[in-house]
Amino acid sequence: MKDSTKTITNDREISYKEIVIIGNGPSGITLSFILSGNWCYYNGRIHPDDMLTARLRSMPQEKSLIEQDLEFLSQGLEGRSRNPVAVLLDSLNHPFDDQDLQKRAPELLAWKHHPQKYIDHVVVGKGNPGGCWHQLDENVTTVSVSSWMELPGLSFDKWESKQCNMKVVCSCSDIRPPRRVKIKQVAKYYRDYVQLMKLSKNFKNFSYVTSIKPIKDKDMYEHILSSCRNEDVQFWEVQGYDVVKKKCFTYVCRKVVLATGTSDAHSNLNVPGEFTNTDWIFHDLKQFQNAVVEMKRNQRSAETDPILIVGSGLSAADAILKCSQFDHPILHVFNSYKFLNENNFPKNLYPEYNHIYKIMKKDIIIDTYKPLMRHVVKEIYSSIKGKRVQIVSPDGVVSWHKVSLIVILVGYVPKLTFLPPEFDAGNTLGIHENQPIDSIKNPIRILPWSYEVANSPPGLYAMGPLVGDNVVRLIHGGAVAIANHLCKRRRK
Ligand SMILES: Cc1cc2nc3c(=O)[nH]c(=O)nc-3n(C[C@H](O)[C@H](O)[C@H](O)COP(=O)(O)OP(=O)(O)OC[C@H]3O[C@@H](n4cnc5c(N)ncnc54)[C@H](O)[C@@H]3O)c2cc1C
Repeated sequence: MKDSTKTITNDREISYKEIVIIGNGPSGITLSFILSGNWCYYNGRIHPDDMLTARLRSMPQEKSLIEQDLEFLSQGLEGRSRNPVAVLLDSLNHPFDDQDLQKRAPELLAWKHHPQKYIDHVVVGKGNPGGCWHQLDENVTTVSVSSWMELPGLSFDKWESKQCNMKVVCSCSDIRPPRRVKIKQVAKYYRDYVQLMKLSKNFKNFSYVTSIKPIKDKDMYEHILSSCRNEDVQFWEVQGYDVVKKKCFTYVCRKVVLATGTSDAHSNLNVPGEFTNTDWIFHDLKQFQNAVVEMKRNQRSAETDPILIVGSGLSAADAILKCSQFDHPILHVFNSYKFLNENNFPKNLYPEYNHIYKIMKKDIIIDTYKPLMRHVVKEIYSSIKGKRVQIVSPDGVVSWHKVSLIVILVGYVPKLTFLPPEFDAGNTLGIHENQPIDSIKNPIRILPWSYEVANSPPGLYAMGPLVGDNVVRLIHGGAVAIANHLCKRRRK
């Protein structure tokens, strides 16, 4: 195989890569780390699940998980993901966390670098390494504790103390109690991680993938694929645009990994008037928060009408927190308060979300907050008399409310329009066919031990929230499963 780059025209570069990873967030970074020859090994520690310890000990200790039988190791495990390898890796990385976070036992994995195991790959991403963490509001605090945001081989505490050391004035200790950190810090940790782990050469940042497709006619890329003409392998074409070089690019590759996350676009209510005015109707938390601050700064007298918040997730909770800072009246339309319950968000770690849970449940009544559970927004309308919204109650009562701002925070959806037309922007790939991909309700259907996309020609993989591994601590499993599958293929 020629690993050549050929400029065919002035504005397009064509090159060969074994693997193209689309998305440079935590998923793409973790997979790049492993494909760079960093392999994980069981370190011999005891897991609280005796059966898992027994299975780990029964396997050849000198062999990395990348070469082991993941199906055997994952047997009977239960956890926060539908994907067994995600649960396995989570169990090994955070053995006691779900029983008692304060115990924080050490992980059961050790990482070793084998330069000879490097697999040729490129990670293409729209911005800096770190994915959506560079797009979120940087001053918001993470939901997860810092150790759950970590990527393999670099603890968040160690990274922070390294930063302190660099600044000479160091007062941080190596291991700190569990704590939540600012999104700004997490985004910086991911960007630094790529540098510190020497992965930068694999990254093509500030670049968009615009289309992928299986190559039907190898002759089209004769100059690149001449040495494997007779191989019975599905090759893929990945096209994109490099924003920095202002150049189109094409990769010809054997495997494509979808690691795009699911937060590139906002879900909508799709009601009349929703898109008529972007000055006071928002779908983005950050823009809404800025608008609230701006409104309060200008002290516009007409703006004492309530703010309408739609949604029952964390973004909606953050929107409530923002309005509460100014004691501004809130109308809150939502389906259920269950997501914010104490199991998901223990009071000691999340006092602010616990308070919102209680006001949504009406355990605490506040003058400036009106919960409208199971109500539905039907129409948004503005005239010289003001901005109004029509809301229908569960028993069908229709009412109109004056509002000052509206924020609709009903989730995110991935943008998979770069997939081949026959995949219908991903709608053919979900566990429920012909429905849009959704990280919770309709993740991409994958083969559990390899993370290959089930309804696709060979060579397409997916990981992260796209397959239902919705938080960072769950994405390690996908990266290990993909690497494990690739290595098995190579050995064959
Ligand atoms: C508001 C919010 C709060 C969250 N809080 C937490 C938390 O506290 N703890 C936690 O563990 N998780 C949290 N998450 C989830 C977490 O962000 C994800 O689990 C994690 O970032 C997934 O990593 P990823 O690499 O798969 O995707 P992402 O981080 O989304 O990265 C994928 C990147 O790929 C880019 N991309 C998409 N399409 C293309 C294309 N065609 N070409 C090039 N690049 C492309 C995207 O723009 C994005 O930058 C939160 C998510 C949101 C939205």
